[in-house]
Amino acid sequence: MGIGVYELTGRTALVTGAASGIGRATAALLAQAGTSVHCADLDGPGARATAERITADGGAAHAHPLDVTDREQVRETVAAAVRADGRLDILAAVAGIMHSSPVLETDDADLERVLAVNFKGVLYSCQEAARAMIAGGAGGSIVTMASGAVDTGAPGLLCYGAAKAAVVQLTRTLATEVGRHGIRVNAVAPGWIRTPMTARRTPGAQHGTEQAMGRAAPLGRVGEPEDVAHSVLYLASDAASFTTGQILRPNGGVAMPW
Ligand code: NAP
Repeated sequence: MGIGVYELTGRTALVTGAASGIGRATAALLAQAGTSVHCADLDGPGARATAERITADGGAAHAHPLDVTDREQVRETVAAAVRADGRLDILAAVAGIMHSSPVLETDDADLERVLAVNFKGVLYSCQEAARAMIAGGAGGSIVTMASGAVDTGAPGLLCYGAAKAAVVQLTRTLATEVGRHGIRVNAVAPGWIRTPMTARRTPGAQHGTEQAMGRAAPLGRVGEPEDVAHSVLYLASDAASFTTGQILRPNGGVAMPW
C-alpha cells in the first residue's frame, strides 16, 4: 500500500462546522487531498469564506448555510451535494458547541440545546449521509467529532460530555450497521485544540490556560486545528480501509485509554 491511499481526487466530502476551527481546517485539508468539499455551517458567511479560500487555492468547494439541528436542512444539504457532484463519499460531522455548567445548576434548556447540536445534529448528519452513500453504492467514510471529555470527568462538562459519549455510541452502532455497504464510521476525540471555541471558554486567560494544558501533555503543547484535520484525513482515506468503529485521539498524549 503506497501513499496514494491518501489521494482523494474524484471524491466528494461534506464538512459540517466548516466556518471555523477544526471544521475549517478539515475542509481545507480534504480539498488539498483532492475532494470536492461542501462546506456547511450555521455561520453561512463563514462557510462561504472557507469555500472561497479553498477555491482561491485551486480546490473545489461549495458553501451551504446549515443548522444541523434541523433534519430537513441536513437532508437538503446532503441532496445538494449529491446533485452537484453525483456522489457523497465522506462526511466529517464537526459542527458543535461548548457548554459548561455544574451539574446542580444544569437546567433543561442547557441539556436540550447541547444534545440538539452535539448529538442530534451529528445523528441527522450521519443518517442522511449514510443513506446517500448506500444509494450511491460506492461505500464511504463517516468521521464524527467526539472529545477527550468522553474519557474523563471534568467540572461543568456534564451536558457536553454526555452528548459526546452519545456520539461515540452512535459511531460504534452505525459502524456495525453499515459496514456491509462498505461504509466506515469512526470518531476523532481531540484534546485541547486552539480554536475560537476554546478561546471563548477561557476569556482573558487563553494564553495561560493553553500553557497549562500544554504542560500537562506528554508532547508539551496544545493542539492546532490542522492536527485534528490530519486525523480526519486519515480516517476518510483508503489508508484506514480496515478501520471502523474506532476512536482516534489527537490529544498530545494527555489521555491514553485502552
Ligand atoms: P468552533 O471554532 O466554535 O467551530 C464550530 C463551528 O460549528 C462554528 O462555525 C459554529 O458556528 C458551528 N455550529 C455551531 N452550531 C451549529 C449548528 N447548529 N449547525 C451548524 N453549525 C453549527 O469549534 P471547534 O473548536 O473547531 O470545534 C469543532 C468540533 O470539535 C466541535 O464538535 C467540538 O465539540 C469538537 N472538539 C473541539 C475541541 C477543542 O479543543 N477545540 C476538543 C474536542 C472536541 P457558530 O460560530 O455560528 O456557532
